[in-house]
Amino acid sequence: MSMVWSIQQQSFSTEIAEISSKDPNPSLKGLAKLSPFLDVTCNRELLRVGGRIRNSDENYDVKFPIILPGDSHFVKQYIRHLHIQNYHAGPQALLSFIRDRFWVTNARPLVRSIIFKCVHCNKYRPKLFDQVMGNLPKDRVTPGRPFEICGVDFCGPMLTSWKIRVRCR
Ligand SMILES: [Zn+2]
Repeated sequence: MSMVWSIQQQSFSTEIAEISSKDPNPSLKGLAKLSPFLDVTCNRELLRVGGRIRNSDENYDVKFPIILPGDSHFVKQYIRHLHIQNYHAGPQALLSFIRDRFWVTNARPLVRSIIFKCVHCNKYRPKLFDQVMGNLPKDRVTPGRPFEICGVDFCGPMLTSWKIRVRCR
C-alpha cells in the first residue's frame, strides 16, 4: 500500500491537497467525475473512487477502488502481471480484474497497448487471409435505370431429391 500511496502522492498531489483542504469547489481535473475521497488504508490516506454503489453488498475495494494513474510505470507492470497471471486475458477480462481493486485512469487504451505488445499473444493471434476478389461484370459498373438489369443469386443451399439422383444414373 505504501507503493500505491507514493504513486498517488506523485501524480495526484494537487487533487489530494484540494480534497484535504475541503475546498467547496475543487477543480480535480479529470477525476471530478469519479467523486474521489480520501480514505485511511494501512495508516495511509489513499484516494478512492466515490461512485454510486455505496449501498451495494460488494467488497469495499470493489465499491471504492483505489485511483491510480495510467501513465505510471508501476501500474503498467502491474497490469502486465495481471495479464500473464490470468492466462493472457483479453481486454475486457483484464479491465475487470484491475477494477476488482484499482481504478486506473485511461485504462482501456493502456490495457489494449499492453496486450498488443505481449509477445505470447502476438505469437498465437490468428492471421486471417483476405480473398482476392475478381472484377465486377460490366452491368454492375455501368449506370442505368432501376431494375433495367436484374440478377438472381443461384448459389446457396442446393437440395437434391431422390428423382434427381435416379436421373443421374
Ligand atoms: Zn499475452
